[in-house]
Amino acid sequence: MRPLPSLDDIRKGGKLALSRMLTRLETEAETAEVAGFLDEACTNGAGLVLGLTGPPGVGKSTLTDALIRNYRSSGLSVAVLAIDPSSQFTGGALLGDRTRLQTDPDDAAVFVRSMAARDRLGGLSDHAIAAIAMLRAVVDRVIVESVGIGQSEGDLVQACDTLLLCIQPGSGDSLQFMKAGIMELPDVVAVTKADMGASARRAASDVAGALSLSRQMQTGWRVPVCEVSARTGQGLDDLVAAVSDHGEFMDRTGALVPKRLRQQGHWLRDMVRTRFGTAGLETVVKQLSETSVQPFGTYRRIALELSARLERPAAD
Ligand code: GDP
Repeated sequence: MRPLPSLDDIRKGGKLALSRMLTRLETEAETAEVAGFLDEACTNGAGLVLGLTGPPGVGKSTLTDALIRNYRSSGLSVAVLAIDPSSQFTGGALLGDRTRLQTDPDDAAVFVRSMAARDRLGGLSDHAIAAIAMLRAVVDRVIVESVGIGQSEGDLVQACDTLLLCIQPGSGDSLQFMKAGIMELPDVVAVTKADMGASARRAASDVAGALSLSRQMQTGWRVPVCEVSARTGQGLDDLVAAVSDHGEFMDRTGALVPKRLRQQGHWLRDMVRTRFGTAGLETVVKQLSETSVQPFGTYRRIALELSARLERPAAD
């Protein structure tokens, strides 16, 4: 097996190096080298991860496009991971690497990849979690775009630093989201298609009323509601500022490091529970520390240990 590149090699190697490495993370998943690489990436994640979700047609792709342009104009490098729930049945990402985004192929600092979802509801696969761990170590902004139809919002919360929920004017979505408990989750809300005028303003005030006050009291973060039109650019700077305010808030309050540690612990428990059930989980609990998770290496160790134990014939 070829040795893996370092994070620095990937930073310098541009899109081709990134793309090759993402493929290797999938084909060589659970090798000691990949687990070690990913755990190192986890401790070097200087980039911020923005999760972008909302129902189909709300304007996520158009907004992602606008965000890419905005970040690039500030000189930030951007990677987009577009989660494609339709591709579950074909085994590959239907949209291909281009997705619907219109990025400049000559711009070395924009990277776009689409990836199959774990299920029809748009949940994130293990590969997506590994990809995010690497991407945030090599670019400034990672945007994870995922259709919000149930499960994906919960998955995204466990994978991103800032969750941006998109709501369509005139859709009555905020009421549905509130019933489903989704309004508890976003850090920033965007009411899209603000060029539609009065209905966008109405949607924004509905949303503001539906946001969870108890969570705001607990965290001290007041979730901003931004009216934005990706088509005309109206409100885009305010939205970008709201997202970056959330990043600064986490820095200032020291919330980011524990948040990522909780996410890593969650991922590790989820992986082991899926494969080894509750008996496996007890092993994780014993091994988890509060300051460092090393989720990929720890998972690999536990998986090897428990598989060996399960495969050993029971003594009679
Ligand atoms: P997605 O399914 O959430 O990714 O939504 P898309 O980005 O594909 O957009 C869905 C539709 O809404 C398309 O026809 C877009 O042209 C339209 N759309 C997206 N953003 C805007 C906007 O800011 N204003 C208006 N009027 N239409 C928009």
